[in-house]
Amino acid sequence: MGVTLCHVHGRAGVTHVCAHIRAALDAHSTLPAWSSYTLPHPPDYVVVRMCEACVVQRKLPVPGRRLIDEELVLDQLDTTPTCDACFVELTSEP
Ligand SMILES: [Zn+2]
Ligand SMILES: [Zn+2]
Repeated sequence: MGVTLCHVHGRAGVTHVCAHIRAALDAHSTLPAWSSYTLPHPPDYVVVRMCEACVVQRKLPVPGRRLIDEELVLDQLDTTPTCDACFVELTSEP
């Protein structure tokens, strides 16, 4: 867990992204504004990135931080595991 096998980057870290960010990654289009969250339970290195719309819809705290038990857990966030290197590559583009 926590590591994915990317066809571009090989073994890489995992980031969990919402459907909208996933769609933008797939389309190589501009990502929506997003916030990063970590989870209340191990593995605490799992990072969840949710776009602005999902943040509002799920009433997540802004700015992103470590979520607590009373807040949503990964299963309920409806996210897709994604290569973190791919994500960083896209978001670091000017
Ligand atoms: Zn979203
Ligand atoms: Zn990758």
